[in-house]
Amino acid sequence: MRLAAELGRWRRAGRCATLWWRDDDARAATPALRRLLVLSDAHRTPLTLAVIPDGRLRELAALLGGRPWVSVVQHGVDHLNRRDGAAAGEFPHEWSEAQLAERLNIGWRQVERLPGALRMFTPPWNDVHPALPQALLACGYTGLSAWGEIAEAGPRIDAHIDLMRWKKGARFRGRRRMWSALRVALRARRRAGLWDAPIGLLSHHLDHDEDAWAFLEALLAWAEGRPELKWKALADLT
Ligand SMILES: [Zn+2]
Repeated sequence: MRLAAELGRWRRAGRCATLWWRDDDARAATPALRRLLVLSDAHRTPLTLAVIPDGRLRELAALLGGRPWVSVVQHGVDHLNRRDGAAAGEFPHEWSEAQLAERLNIGWRQVERLPGALRMFTPPWNDVHPALPQALLACGYTGLSAWGEIAEAGPRIDAHIDLMRWKKGARFRGRRRMWSALRVALRARRRAGLWDAPIGLLSHHLDHDEDAWAFLEALLAWAEGRPELKWKALADLT
């Protein structure tokens, strides 16, 4: 297995890869969210929930209390697509930094009430509006999580491996593709000498089919206790 060979290279280099786990679109204490939290509990794997501010956050707060390994970040302002083109995004391109900042702050005032809330922002559809980084900085956010950038230190901590495929309806990406994506992510960091750049796993609990749930559980169990891999909480990456 080529992944085993890659892990061997990390072992021989005396390195340990950093993984982190982000799950998007929490809005309420649904059965799917409970199922996700049970997985995180069972494998003692730190989890970051990207929460949409306009949801039923009081019931979410009750669910997250007493789970110090779960972090919460703000997922957009209302998760509405306001773009005309093919690429979705909450903020039209013509919106100014001040317009973004106003919406960001309204959302944060909801999310900050949740246990484990970190002042970080995850834009829906991983869409980074040109004025977003500056607006986040002006509002006092400490970080941004979108898609695909490899970096050893914040403020940007992205996701890199998507459990789901989205074209023609959400479904599990497939076992072979997932293991291959992990191997490619490890290789990219090794070759760049960015051993400590985290690898972000992205899940969407509301969209998982049974194959996605089964793989997620298998991945968490497989990673547990491996010397070449370590899950970290988002707060420990910033
Ligand atoms: Zn989303």
